[in-house]
Amino acid sequence: MANITASDVIEYLYCPRFIYFMRCLDIPQHEEKRYKVQKGRDIHLIKAEVNKNYLRKKLNVVRKEINVPLNSEKYNIHGILDEILFVEDGSAMPFDYKFAEYKEKLFSTHFYQSNIYALLIQENFNAPVNKGFVCYTRSSNLVKEMNFSAKSFSDTQSLINDVVKVIETGYFPPKTKSANKCPDCCYKNICVR
Ligand code: SF4
Repeated sequence: MANITASDVIEYLYCPRFIYFMRCLDIPQHEEKRYKVQKGRDIHLIKAEVNKNYLRKKLNVVRKEINVPLNSEKYNIHGILDEILFVEDGSAMPFDYKFAEYKEKLFSTHFYQSNIYALLIQENFNAPVNKGFVCYTRSSNLVKEMNFSAKSFSDTQSLINDVVKVIETGYFPPKTKSANKCPDCCYKNICVR
């Protein structure tokens, strides 16, 4: 079965056809590399300050691990998580940095990504994960808290299955529901709409 990344799911949520072009036809996005380098530089400067000033004391964090590679055989997914915070009560929480401004719509995408990290943490560390955080570095390091539930985990699992289906069967998925994404899309010239 195809093993996917948390980022694949983000791409799928942006437009289901991205996965088809990237993973079935092997056509990369041109902007991808530049974005990642930029993100890395920015976040490197910010991480220490956010942690020091915010979460550790407030949430009784006793330990953290950074840049943690995680793999799930159960869900066929892997990824590298910016930080895992371990709490006094034995639970753990994903903490992810985004080189982005906070926007409600974007947050719902990041919510699913964090659910994936939560599933990965549960499987790799055998610790309950009930909440997580995303830090928006371009909104003055705004930290948004999110709560996970049985429903959010099962929705996330369905999403993972949808992405795997495209990769494994070559299924050409429907286009994005937001047609306003298409004019700026790097695949617009090859995407039949
Ligand atoms: S052109 Fe529109 S439908 Fe096609 S891949 Fe891009 S965003 Fe998706």
